[in-house]
Amino acid sequence: MTFSLALVGRPNVGKSTLFNRLVGKRLALVDDRPGVTRDLREGEGRLGDLRFTVIDTAGLEEATDESLEGRMRKLTERAVAEADVCLFMLDARAGVTPTDELFAGILRKGAKNVLLAANKAEGSAADAGIFEAYGLGLGEPIRLSAEHGEGMSDLHAALMPLA
Ligand code: GDP
Ligand code: MG
Repeated sequence: MTFSLALVGRPNVGKSTLFNRLVGKRLALVDDRPGVTRDLREGEGRLGDLRFTVIDTAGLEEATDESLEGRMRKLTERAVAEADVCLFMLDARAGVTPTDELFAGILRKGAKNVLLAANKAEGSAADAGIFEAYGLGLGEPIRLSAEHGEGMSDLHAALMPLA
């Protein structure tokens, strides 16, 4: 049995960094140039004994005339429809922003399985953001550092019952 995992969240929280870590090939571009990433990017993810499809929702990074909220809603609804599990990612160093709150609202309404990840959680600069994340009503945040590979066993443990 395999499953699909969509990485959801506002730009710059670390979705593509985690995608690259899970997929192990540099398929998703990690940079700030507008217009270089497609809306959804897929790869074969591996985490310990788990094998799954990873979907990086990159579409918000594209420059368009449509409102951020409108694009967020469409992209998130697509991810929710296409993926078995959504991993909603926050930047724990930045704390919970109004854009994160908007995402949380969309996910609370639509998603089957939502996991919450507080990324950039290496070091104590993330502690306040992790505390705030509990307030989103999406359960306990998984502490991750996609860049440094920390928290991967907690992510594995959270995915296990859903696989
Ligand atoms: P995306 O826009 O959500 O796909 O975010 P990216 O993966 O492009 O990452 C945005 C920035 O955050 C990049 O400069 C990454 O190097 C950085 N970043 C990603 N994960 C971490 C992390 O765990 N810790 C820290 N400190 N920085 C990170
Ligand atoms: Mg990205």
